[in-house]
Amino acid sequence: MFEFENMLHSEFTELPFKLMIYTIVFLFGICIGSFLNVVIIRLPRHESLIKRSSHCMTCGTKIRPIDLIPVFSWLLLRGKCHACGEKISPRYPIVESLNGILYVLTFMILDINAKAIITCVLMSLLIVIGFMDWDTQEIDLIIVGMILLLAVPAAIFTDDVELKHRIIGAFAISVPFFIIGEVSRPIIRKKFKEDFRAIELGDTILMFAAGALLGTQAVIVSALIGIIAAAVFGLIIKFATKESKFAFGPYLSMGIAVAMLWGNQIASWYVDLLTYEPPVA
Ligand SMILES: [Zn+2]
Repeated sequence: MFEFENMLHSEFTELPFKLMIYTIVFLFGICIGSFLNVVIIRLPRHESLIKRSSHCMTCGTKIRPIDLIPVFSWLLLRGKCHACGEKISPRYPIVESLNGILYVLTFMILDINAKAIITCVLMSLLIVIGFMDWDTQEIDLIIVGMILLLAVPAAIFTDDVELKHRIIGAFAISVPFFIIGEVSRPIIRKKFKEDFRAIELGDTILMFAAGALLGTQAVIVSALIGIIAAAVFGLIIKFATKESKFAFGPYLSMGIAVAMLWGNQIASWYVDLLTYEPPVA
C-alpha cells in the first residue's frame, strides 16, 4: 500500500517532477500548518477548532480572504494588520513553514510510502505538542494519544520495527522517566515547597507513545537528543531570559522527529563508534 517503487529516490525520475512533488507537499504542509496554529492557540482554551476567527485581535477589522493564505499573506502584509498596523506574531508563518519544511524533508528522506505519510502526521502532532508545552507548560494528552494511535498503521503498513520492539520501546524511556519523576518529587517538595517532578508525567506519557511508534532503538536516540537539546537550549534560554519555567516537551518533540527520520541509522552509527576496532596492521 502507498508504495511507488522509490519514485523520488529513483535516478530515472526527472528533476522537474521531483520539484513539482516537493512544491505540492510544501503548499499542502503550510495549509495544515495554518490549522496547527489554530489548534495550538485554541486547544488549551477549550475553544472550537472549526470556527474561524475572522477579526483582527486588536482592532476587530474583518480579515480579508486574501490575508488567510499561509506564510505568503504574512509576508505580503509585512507582519502587520492591514487596517490598524498592529504586529501579527511571526509565530504564525513560523509554524506554517516549519510544517511545510518538515513534510518536504520527510518525503525527501523516506520517499513516497506509508511511513512518509505516518511521519508527516507525526511531525504535525509534534509541532502542536512542542509549541503548546512551550506556551502552557502542559503536554496535551489528546495529541499524545494520537501519536500512540499512529503506532497501529505503522505496525500494519511498515516493517522496519518488530512488534516486540514497539512494546519494549514504549517502556524503554517512559519507565526510567517515571522513576526519575517519582524519586525527584519528595526532594523538590522538601527543597522548593512545591509539588512537581523533575520529569513531568506528560513527558513520560509522550515517551511511552513515541516508543510504541519508533521502537526501542530509535526511542532511546530520541530521548538522548531531547535531553542534550534541553540541556543546551534550556541553559541558553535560562541565561538570556532569566525565566525559571522550563518545558521539556519541545526538546523531546525535536528528538522524536529526528529519530523518526534517522533513529536507527544514528543508533547503529553510535554503536559502531563505540565498538570500533582499529584494523590490525
Ligand atoms: Zn487590526
